[in-house]
Amino acid sequence: MKVFGVVGWKNSGKTGLMERLVAEISGRGLRVSTVKHAHHNVDVDQPGKDSHRHRQAGAVEVVLASRKRWAMMHELRDAPEAEIDVLLPKMSPVDLILIEGYKRHNHPKVEAHRVETGRDLLARQDASVRAVASNSVPEGLTVPVLNLDDTAEIADFILRETGLAQTPPPLPEIAPPQRLKNDCFALPPGVDWTPVDVALDRLRQTLSPVVGQETLPAHDALGRILASDVQAVRANPPCANSAVDGYGFTHDSLSTGAQVLPLADGRAAAGGPYGGVLAPGSALRILTGAPLPPGVDTVILEEDVTAKDGHIAFEAGLKAGANTRRAGEDVDAGAPLLPAGHRLRAPDLALLAATGLASVPVWRRLRVGILSTGDELAAPGSTLDPARTYDANRPMLLALAAGWHATPVDLGHAPDDRDTLRKILDRAADEVDVILTSGGASAGDEDHMSAILRDEGAMAAWRIALKPGRPLALGQWQGVPIFGLPGNPVAALVCALIFARPALSVLGGGTWLRPHATQVPAAFAKSKKPGRREYLRARLTEDGRAEVFKSEGSGRISGLSWADGLVELPDHAVDVSPGTPVRFLPYSALFSS
Ligand code: AMP
Ligand code: MG
Repeated sequence: MKVFGVVGWKNSGKTGLMERLVAEISGRGLRVSTVKHAHHNVDVDQPGKDSHRHRQAGAVEVVLASRKRWAMMHELRDAPEAEIDVLLPKMSPVDLILIEGYKRHNHPKVEAHRVETGRDLLARQDASVRAVASNSVPEGLTVPVLNLDDTAEIADFILRETGLAQTPPPLPEIAPPQRLKNDCFALPPGVDWTPVDVALDRLRQTLSPVVGQETLPAHDALGRILASDVQAVRANPPCANSAVDGYGFTHDSLSTGAQVLPLADGRAAAGGPYGGVLAPGSALRILTGAPLPPGVDTVILEEDVTAKDGHIAFEAGLKAGANTRRAGEDVDAGAPLLPAGHRLRAPDLALLAATGLASVPVWRRLRVGILSTGDELAAPGSTLDPARTYDANRPMLLALAAGWHATPVDLGHAPDDRDTLRKILDRAADEVDVILTSGGASAGDEDHMSAILRDEGAMAAWRIALKPGRPLALGQWQGVPIFGLPGNPVAALVCALIFARPALSVLGGGTWLRPHATQVPAAFAKSKKPGRREYLRARLTEDGRAEVFKSEGSGRISGLSWADGLVELPDHAVDVSPGTPVRFLPYSALFSS
């Protein structure tokens, strides 16, 4: 149990400070008890009471209990007055015990001071005084001087000194980036055509994060993936406060029937707390979000009272605690907020801010290199030669990587030449965490990407039972994973969305992503043979049915742009006719992560 004292000369304001500190610190969700050292002629019992009679008769201890509270009285008789060390172990466990008085004992304390008392400060002689809370600025002190009226500042000081201040949890050790296993893309022997789900499972099991971690200011972490679970540093709300504009009072002080309460001076507003203690039987103007001051546990809506001549009148019947928000009713301090692997979105940033997380441990952004291959490729508009193909995959894949919150790195275009390809991959391996290439992924004469990976890059050629798509060359170049996508833009897009999207998420520290699909009625007819999963370029009609592009030709880039998503037809045979439910995967989900 933590202990902190408040001392001060007579009229220094120490009891007022105690009272405000108890309210402030309990309002922050900590349990506080107090010890008060009373003047020698104060008695806790009164002659004539039954308890007094028990004591007189010789009881060692008397417990006096009623419906509201109980107290134990211990008879000192001729024994010396109890030291604080004897009293503290008798108290119930709480977070903090504030002690008023006992100034000669060496527990840490704050000294209340008012310049009007004219007394010199205890702090000048007593090293156990850790700070002075004063209404002036006394000179020549070696301890901090706090503002006697700034209860929050004094509470902050006490909580820091006692180690009760809520500090952000220590950030985890930053793990160095890992390397994938050399044979991670190898398929089990004997596998020829790989069904899409088998290929996805395989990727899912073998991939792990390849980036390092860093700590970022939470407000800069949009789109980043948490590297560890995060917990609330502070409760939300941090203290009990009013949920409405109205009038606050103690519910206990109400009688039955119509109520008339005098209004106290002042008010409590969000950012402008009341500062005092509201007397029982009176009411205080209170605004939405204002911390409930001591003496207020219930608030009545301003619409439900009539206010006149410094009084408010209203009907009884309000429940205790009405129109107030409990400290921590949304999130408790220390409660789990978001798990490792979660990608931060705008509302998550609000949650982190509200619960006091100024910084968060995140994975570094995945750097994704994009390389196009093929002698026929040229930059758009750079030539009128009809034998050349304008490079359509590179801008598409760079844009996809950006939409997936990665850092796209343009690796340019490689000719169908092994030496050049090798040099480009060597350089890229230093610069990026993963490489997406397109073209040259099959087993043809000019398919140099798959050839070089097969010979030097631990390649596994996956023949996936997928249309459009099929060849997916997976390999590693100096430990950097490479996804060799088909050259055909339609197949390149489908393979990127179905395979690269979830794989890149895991490589960047995130979770395995399943495409978000909705069942919609088909607006088309198609008879599909068994064996390969098919993705059709599709969009929704106004009445929510999926129509497909007029041609399934894999060179039809216009269909990619015409579409708003893909219709996924299963591996087995299906006969789709208008109205048959089909799975629609919207671009909006596939293009984000
Ligand atoms: P490949 O996989 O290299 O045999 O290429 C298959 C088809 O896709 C060929 O017609 C290529 O010209 C075409 N292609 C390959 N890469 C691209 C690209 N980056 N942009 C447009 N078409 C491409
Ligand atoms: Mg080619």
